[in-house]
Amino acid sequence: MIIKKDQDEIQNYLTDASNTTGFCDAVYIPENVEELKDIVKGLNNSKTEITISGNRTGLTGASMPRGGVVISTEKFNRIIEINVEEKFAIVEPGVLLSELQNSVKTKGLLYPPDPTEKNCFIGGNIATNASGARTFKYGPTRNYVEELNVVLADGDSIHLVRGKNIAKDFSLTLTTDSGKNINLHIPQIKMPETKNASGYFCKKDMDAIDLFIGSEGTLGIITKIKLKLIPQPVNELSCVLFFESEEIGLNFLIKAREETYRNHIEKNTDGIDAIVLEFYDGNSLDFLRKDFPNIPADAESAVWFEQECDNNEDQMLQLWINLFAEFGGNEEEAWFASTEKDKERLVEFRHAISVNTNEYMARHNVRKLGTDVAVPDNKLIEFYNSAKKLVEESKIHYLNYGHFGNSHMHLNMLPKNEEEFAKGKKLYQSICELAIKMGGTFSAEHGVGKNKTEYLVKMYGEENVNKMRMIKKTLDSNYILSVGNIFKKGNL
Ligand SMILES: Cc1cc2nc3c(=O)[nH]c(=O)nc-3n(C[C@H](O)[C@H](O)[C@H](O)COP(=O)(O)OP(=O)(O)OC[C@H]3O[C@@H](n4cnc5c(N)ncnc54)[C@H](O)[C@@H]3O)c2cc1C
Repeated sequence: MIIKKDQDEIQNYLTDASNTTGFCDAVYIPENVEELKDIVKGLNNSKTEITISGNRTGLTGASMPRGGVVISTEKFNRIIEINVEEKFAIVEPGVLLSELQNSVKTKGLLYPPDPTEKNCFIGGNIATNASGARTFKYGPTRNYVEELNVVLADGDSIHLVRGKNIAKDFSLTLTTDSGKNINLHIPQIKMPETKNASGYFCKKDMDAIDLFIGSEGTLGIITKIKLKLIPQPVNELSCVLFFESEEIGLNFLIKAREETYRNHIEKNTDGIDAIVLEFYDGNSLDFLRKDFPNIPADAESAVWFEQECDNNEDQMLQLWINLFAEFGGNEEEAWFASTEKDKERLVEFRHAISVNTNEYMARHNVRKLGTDVAVPDNKLIEFYNSAKKLVEESKIHYLNYGHFGNSHMHLNMLPKNEEEFAKGKKLYQSICELAIKMGGTFSAEHGVGKNKTEYLVKMYGEENVNKMRMIKKTLDSNYILSVGNIFKKGNL
């Protein structure tokens, strides 16, 4: 095992992609499960806090330590098996998402979760239940996790297999590899119907594996994962369409969503069926213009869509062009990807907005002020307009983009100075509260981390959050694992 104690050597482990920083005494880099179990046992005995680190692309400070030690999963980086016949992969948590995606693609398979940033670890994706643009069709990471091996806070371990351990109502019993039974009480909360990555998954008759997915390193260290794969689509359309106003772009997106859902219900495989429905407002397009100078000068919004197709690409494209024409779209100005390289360029168009935003914040030495809110579909327009009004009144510059197919909005404020940052924080709070009030969530995919704990209380109430916290306390009696994530640091 590698142990790094020199502060110069560990700086990499002390900033995440949201520009949240941390501090710790040492970074441990175990190379196998036995080493990991031994070190965790020792740290538990000495009640030393452990923060688990993936590749630190997280946007909530979750992998940032507040003292104690970091355990990095970077050496758990093997793809153990890709089974083409039964369509699954067995991987270690430190495998890069890009590596897994590329490896399964060469075998004609697809691992669908695609959280924009491909430089993250699969373990981090599971710990945050990551999603992204493709979640519109394929669902979040949770839907692809079949089995997990997890090292618990006392150095014991557990093997979770989907379908093998279901709660009785709201009671769950876990049996560890050493034969110990652990009884857990699941709080009876109502999770929003939207995409959601806020706190523990809690549901009547839930599967035990779902408790660990999205638990942000607070319940154990994931060491091995079995993932479901699907066949690689024969072909995919990928296009960016530009609109003369935000309103028209939004209405187009909503119509395309309705068509997609209708075709699902009617099992129509020859109709519009989006994989991805992403929205960019006018400010986002302006922000991207220097990197993408061919954005039409008069465009005030854009929608990026993708759709699976077989050899009927032209027929499918025509359906989208017809719909686009209904909204007055100019086909000449649209971007239609016809080669793999073109498709990658459109993916880059989506990636660039997130990266440039994060870079802006790092350059101005402030923490990310980007929402991760989602609302029920029928509230999207009302929510969009209310949030826009709030932020425009503040005069802080902002961009609004994201996974609007899932009514999921990354409204990012770009404060120029500390004063605007303080104002922006209040606005951020108002927007999260509004999403919660409308039956949505303050975190649809990034998780709670250390930066959003107060909103979990606003969403579920203190009593329920304390019940969630009791789950952690039961599994981690010395309260050492990723302390400060999901729940504010402090006494129960
Ligand atoms: C430009 C950009 C765009 C992004 N877009 C999206 C997006 O569209 N959708 C989305 O969902 N996310 C997005 N993200 C966020 C980020 O990529 C995800 O949160 C990612 O899943 C984190 O993986 P990681 O390996 O970097 O984990 P880290 O950031 O290192 O850690 C995240 C959390 O996982 C825990 N963890 C990591 N490994 C383990 C393990 N083995 N066992 C237990 N806990 C563990 C950590 O303790 C921490 O709580 C984006 C990030 C960037 C920088």
